[in-house]
Amino acid sequence: MADLGIPQNTIAVLKKYQFHFQKKFGQNFLIDTHVLDKIIASAEITKDDYVLEIGPGIGTMTQCLCEHAKFVTAVEIDKNLIPILQDTLGNYGNVEIVHSDILKVDINKLVEEKNEGKPVKIVANLPYYITTPIIMELFERHVPIKSVTVMVQKEVAARMQAGPGTKDYGALSLAVKYYAKPLMVANVPPNCFMPRPKVASAVIRLTCHETPPVRVKDEALLFRLIRASFNQRRKTLANGLSHDPELRMAKEVVQKVIKDAGFPASVRGEMLTLEEFADLSDRFSDAVRQSF
Ligand code: SAM
Repeated sequence: MADLGIPQNTIAVLKKYQFHFQKKFGQNFLIDTHVLDKIIASAEITKDDYVLEIGPGIGTMTQCLCEHAKFVTAVEIDKNLIPILQDTLGNYGNVEIVHSDILKVDINKLVEEKNEGKPVKIVANLPYYITTPIIMELFERHVPIKSVTVMVQKEVAARMQAGPGTKDYGALSLAVKYYAKPLMVANVPPNCFMPRPKVASAVIRLTCHETPPVRVKDEALLFRLIRASFNQRRKTLANGLSHDPELRMAKEVVQKVIKDAGFPASVRGEMLTLEEFADLSDRFSDAVRQSF
């Protein structure tokens, strides 16, 4: 039975293995059964689901996932946690522990092998410093995903849901909007973890769209434009795009496209909606094609 959400049981496991927390892996283990229940309930895990857990730690959430899902793959980077996981998950026959950096795992292949390529549910209490790269990687690689239910730093949850013209709005907000529908599940204070993190956390569920809300001619270009627009937030959109080394577009072309799209020369990227970025992206696609 899942029992690691109770602090004494977590302490007992850590003592048994003389485990030392590694700051570089962002290790803050959950010790609150209410939060665990909320994560499982909001991820809507059923016995039909194949679940990928990123960063299982000592297996606290993994135990709960095993009890609700058909099969769980848990990917953990810290080799010292592998024997612990083999112990804490020893009673479950529906889990595979993978010792790896999640960024080095071919998740498409994993989902193909374990779930015949059908969409997977992802659950994670992520180390804060790699939250954004992991989420972007999952989206951009077009891993078949039903939903991603993640514990993130509270500020990151705010960025994921932010709209144009707000301080939190940026490339992550637009990527989330393009790929998924965000839902705030819970605010989680530092005392729900061991050791306590310095920042507040939140659980957010991203339910992936079957088709994106906007269609563009070149998806890679759309995201290059978005990134370039927010790399230098204080610059006008025209300056940000024409100085971007990846885009390599002449300033006159950039200025003309922005004008033709109906924006003033002073417009900044932070004012544009996803639909407006999509329109700009298609205009740039056409402009580039015409220049050849
Ligand atoms: N899920 C556990 C829990 O809720 O108690 C642990 C959460 S802890 C915040 C993050 C976990 O992710 C740690 O176990 C850490 O070692 C692991 N981790 C860090 N970077 C990783 C990476 N790149 N790939 C896989 N696991 C990683």
